[in-house]
Amino acid sequence: MVIKVDSLPLQAKAGYTAKSPRWAIAWKFPAQQGQSRILDITLNVGRTGAITPTAELEPVTLAGTTVSRASLHNEDYIRDKDIRIGDQVLVQKAGDIIPEIVESLKDKRDGSEVIWQPPTHCPACGSNSVRVEGEAVRRCPNLGCPAQIRERVIHYASRGAMDIEGLGPAVVDAFFRAGLIENAADLYALKPEDIEELERMGPKSAANLVAAIDKSKSQPLERLLFGLGIRFVGAKAARLLAENFGSIDALMAASHEQLTTVPEIGDTIAASVISELADPDMQKLIRRLQAAAVNTTQEAARTGGPLEGKTFVLTGTLEGLTRTEAQKLIEEGGGKVTSAVSANTDYVVAGEKAGSKLDKAQALGITILDKNQLLQLRGRSFS
Ligand SMILES: [Zn+2]
Repeated sequence: MVIKVDSLPLQAKAGYTAKSPRWAIAWKFPAQQGQSRILDITLNVGRTGAITPTAELEPVTLAGTTVSRASLHNEDYIRDKDIRIGDQVLVQKAGDIIPEIVESLKDKRDGSEVIWQPPTHCPACGSNSVRVEGEAVRRCPNLGCPAQIRERVIHYASRGAMDIEGLGPAVVDAFFRAGLIENAADLYALKPEDIEELERMGPKSAANLVAAIDKSKSQPLERLLFGLGIRFVGAKAARLLAENFGSIDALMAASHEQLTTVPEIGDTIAASVISELADPDMQKLIRRLQAAAVNTTQEAARTGGPLEGKTFVLTGTLEGLTRTEAQKLIEEGGGKVTSAVSANTDYVVAGEKAGSKLDKAQALGITILDKNQLLQLRGRSFS
């Protein structure tokens, strides 16, 4: 349930915080909780080498779905909450989406529980794991780690990045197993006959997949930059860098000072961009992508609009305004419309029959506008 200030003039007066309107608040049901047991703690290696512990749970039904895993984030989290293998635990779905462990039920212990030890080695490649002073995360430092490479390709193909339809984790795994690819650049050399023999593929899906891979060549630079998985470069930073430098070659030649003159690009991002783009393997990957005719340029953004730098997602039917008109309105104001709600979304414009995007926006605390508020926002700052 959303409780709002009814009067539009008062809404305008109350205005917004950085994240949400001051004139509306969501009143939510308390998160559904359930009891389960930790059967094991397993490790997952992400694309930046982060080794994340995950609780394998006795299946429990929460808010209509079966939960059998929950992220434990990092070793400090496990130690601070004193979570042990074999513990009875209280589980809940945060914002009714992501399962989490609330606490271990310590009075239910029988002495058989095992205290978990952080991994000394990467579970995928065996490299010594490292934990940088001041960081909560333990990492595998080996850029050639097979788990990291796999995750990087999955990220490259994902919706927010190059958006290659049909290229999900299972297909990426099948490509690696069959020795068809070693990195993202190899995707562009694939032919339908290479992949139609794979399990659960056929001539039709193979042809579709090759067409989808081909189509990704024309994605704008910001998606490619995001897809390269440079640490600290999320979708938003990728967009800012793409719009300000215009090409990957210009970005590769940029100095730390040039990078940090871009608003919102700080020292951390700049340092990461410079070191990762200077990496010989990364340079080789980029050159191969260019040779495969993947687009590595982008026009500079229109500047000075009232919605400058803001990202919108549209959902539901807006009365008297088609989707195309709404998008044009936003883009002419300097804003950008994307299809999926994420932490980088600034506003969700919701109309009649708004669906799961609205739920997700509420869960993420993103400002939700109706049609009139969108017009107001554009008009007010426009004048
Ligand atoms: Zn590794």
